[in-house]
Order: sequence, then structure tokens, then C-alpha cells
Amino acid sequence: MYKNLIGGEWRDGVAVSRNINPSDTRDLIGEYAQADAEQTRLAISAADAAFPAWSLSTPQQRFDILDAVGSEILARRAELGDLLAREEGKTLPEAIGEVVRAGNIFKFFAGEALRPGGELMPSVRPGVGVEITREPIGIVGLITPWNFPIAIPAWKIAPALAFGNCVVFKPAELVPGSAWALAEILSRAGLPAGVFNLVMGRGSEAGQTLLNDPRVAAISFTGSVPTGQKVAAACVARMAKFQLEMGGKNPMIVLDDADLGVAVNAAVNSGFFSTGQRCTASSRLIVTEGIHDRFVAAMVEKMKTLKIDDARKAGTDIGPVVDASQLGQDLDYVGIAQAEGGRLVQGGARVEHSGDGQPGFYMTPALITETTAAMRINREEVFGPVVSVMRAKNYEEALALANDSPFGLAAGIATTSLKHATHFKRHAQAGMVMVNLPTAGVDYHVPFGGRKGSSYGPREQGRHAAEFYTTVKTAYTQA
Ligand code: NAD
Repeated sequence: MYKNLIGGEWRDGVAVSRNINPSDTRDLIGEYAQADAEQTRLAISAADAAFPAWSLSTPQQRFDILDAVGSEILARRAELGDLLAREEGKTLPEAIGEVVRAGNIFKFFAGEALRPGGELMPSVRPGVGVEITREPIGIVGLITPWNFPIAIPAWKIAPALAFGNCVVFKPAELVPGSAWALAEILSRAGLPAGVFNLVMGRGSEAGQTLLNDPRVAAISFTGSVPTGQKVAAACVARMAKFQLEMGGKNPMIVLDDADLGVAVNAAVNSGFFSTGQRCTASSRLIVTEGIHDRFVAAMVEKMKTLKIDDARKAGTDIGPVVDASQLGQDLDYVGIAQAEGGRLVQGGARVEHSGDGQPGFYMTPALITETTAAMRINREEVFGPVVSVMRAKNYEEALALANDSPFGLAAGIATTSLKHATHFKRHAQAGMVMVNLPTAGVDYHVPFGGRKGSSYGPREQGRHAAEFYTTVKTAYTQA
């Protein structure tokens, strides 16, 4: 039984949630405590009590703790990666890569704890000096999705603590295992009681309590658009600071002059790896006429070689979908796209069992051609291994199609033309642009985030994270 961490103590919840392996639904990973609203408020009280002292902790203290957390995560990458693959369903190499990313993020923000400087400016008034400094904001509520069970918590918790805030962390219901393991590491790293709290529980209860409590100064949220809208409404109502990272419908343009191998590898990687369950997945391929048929044929050939199996088995390329409801949604969208006139040229079928006969949530990755911008398959996020292809006459039309979306997280282009690559970097309406690379897969030390319906508020990660996790003070002194 895995408990919640409230005020430095491990506490039972009011209920229990069972964590099931999507690669083998007979495998119970563990039972995890569920906090209700009252327990969530206890965690907020603990954070509230810890904040005055923690906000004045030295940069050295924060560096040492975050650095130790990063070191332990990196040292335990194989074990933590195995747990992550087992509960979420991404392949073992992907899961270990995510764990390494989380470790590196803690190391990066250990350094950032030492780095904040202020500005000293002359006043416009004689004899007056002006200082601009950054201070922690207070208690931050962190609400995360299931698809990156350790990296997303890391990229919120590490900067929150680095800049002197107290944390109440509410992970996604489907992946409590990685969240609990991270909390356990944090609980031994030297943080004073109450600085970091874990409340596993339902979004509508534990999550909503964080949104509504006036003591929580800021909410950092990653998840779906509908939940993001609830976060925004609750935060605006009480004037709390908030940051939202939400869905994507990321385009990848393939131009006639692209290197076919580069384009196919990038599209297969960012469309289907991690079972397509990445907010930065390329789910819309926009291909110019001269290369269209060759590109689709090469995609189909490559997709036929992908091995769909248990996430933890050596050689698996694509693991299961995270749960039954997401699998149902993925298969529904394959049907919706066909009903709208799309042509299913590969995959899109339910697979009942792993290679060894384990019951799991498997499907073959789907490629749907002859789609148009107005179809639901090109407007709505599926969040699974389902990719559509649109034809474009030329680069200009491809760019217009790429930008014709309510989302704007990542956008990619495969081309050997410097002119088109340069133009695309400037004119793609997205927070992140990739040239000859998958749209998914980003560095940990630079800003992450999008535009339009994908994101709201300051960027996460890199030194830009300070924007959200600190508040600016301007002090005037008459000498
Ligand atoms: P979700 O919105 O269902 O849940 C996200 C989190 O919000 C969970 O912890 C959930 O418990 C919580 N929640 C639900 N209702 C709540 C409420 N009323 N109040 C407070 N919290 C509440 O999303 P999900 O299904 O876990 O994740 C998938 C989504 O996340 C996709 O849309 C994906 O694109 C998005 N995502 C975005 C990014 C990004 O950085 N842009 C990264 C990863 C995932």
C-alpha cells in the first residue's frame, strides 16, 4: 500500500486505487492511497506552514537537495524506467530515457537555484536607486497527466523548489507508481517537512481542491483542453497565477525535396513511438504532390516492420495504449476518419494479446490518407497511434494547412531547402519548430510550450521557468 506524503508523514487515504499494467491487465502493480478534499487541504496547510522558512532557505541548501534527487534518479534509471514502462506502456528504452530526462532536469534546476540575479538600475529621480529582484510565489499546486509520469512532474517540481516555493503535487490517476517513487526520493533528500507534499487522488476532488483553495498561489497544469479550461476558470475566479500545457495536433510537412529516409524516420518516430501518446506527436502529415505516393508507400513499409508487444520486452517498438478508454477513443477516430472519406492504408486494428498471449490494450498504428483540413481527424487530438496524411500542391499551401489548426504546440518540416526551412521556422504558428527532426523529443534545458489552444501562460523548462515560479519585486531606495 503506497501512501500520500503530507507534512513529512506518509498517510493513508480515504480510498485505494489499483495500478494496472496495460501490457498485461492481469498484473497489479500496486494499490495507492487516494486523498479526498480534506486531506488535500491538510497538505496545503503543511505547505503553508513550511513556506516562511523555506522561502528564505539558501541557494546552497536548495542546490544540494535538487542535485541529490537528480543523482538518485539517474542512478536508479533502470529500475524506475521499468516501473514507468510497466504502468504507462511506453517501451523500456523510452521509459529509461524519460527517467534520465527527469534526473537531468533536477540537476539543471539545482544549478538554477544558484543563478538568479537581480537588476540594479538608476532611478529617473535624483539620489534614488532601483533594485529588481525575484521572489518565490508561495504554495504551488502541480497537476500532471499520465503520458510522462516522471518527466512532467520533474519539470514542475524541480523549478518550484529551486526558486523557494512549497509544492502540493497531484499526479494523474493512471500512473501513481512513478509519482510515488519520485516523492519517496524527495522525502529523503533533506527537504523540511511540508515543503513537498504528494496527494494522489481524483482530479475532480484532490485536483479541484487545489484549484479552489485561496492559499495556493499558483497552479501549473499539463493535461487536456477541457480540464485546462476548468483550471483557468477556477484560477481567474480567485486571481491565482496559472500556466496550462494542453493538447496538440502537430503538423509535419514533407516537401518534394526532402530526404525520403529522414522524412519517414521522423514521421514514424513522432507519430507512433510512445504509442502516439505525446502532446508533441506528429499527427498530421502534409505532403507535397511530387513525393506523396513514394512517401506513403515508404511509411507503410516501415510501419509493417514495427513490433507491437509488451512494453518491457526487448525488441518491442510500440507498447500498448494506456487504458481501455483511450484505446476505444483511438479506434473510434480510425472509424471517424474513414467515415469522413479518409483511406486507411495501414494498421488501425485492435490486437487482443501481446506476443506471449498476455491480455492488453494493443492496436496496430494507423495511417489514413486522402484527408482534408476540415475533417475531424485533422482538427481534434486523438492522443494515440493514429496519423493522417493531407496532400498539398506546394510549400505555400502546405504551410497554410499546417497553420490551419486550433492548436500550436510543435510543427515540423522535412526539406533540404534552406529557403523553405528558414521561412517555416519564422512562419509556423507553433511554440516549437523542428527541421528534419521528429516533432516529439525535446531538450531539457530550453523552453517548452506552445501557442493558440495548446498553451497558456509563461513557458516551462530552461531558465524561462523562472517566469512562472517567481514573482518580480521592484524596490526603490533614497540614499
Ligand atoms: P486530463 O486533463 O484528463 O488530466 C490531467 C490532470 O488533471 C490529471 O492529474 C487529472 O486528475 C487532473 N484533473 C482532472 N479534472 C480536474 C479538475 N476538475 N480539477 C483539477 N484537476 C483535474 O489529461 P490526461 O488524459 O491525463 O493527459 C492527456 C492530455 O495531456 C492530452 O490532451 C495531452 O496532449 C496533454 N499533454 C500536454 C502536454 C503539453 O506539455 N502540452 C504534455 C503531455 C500531455
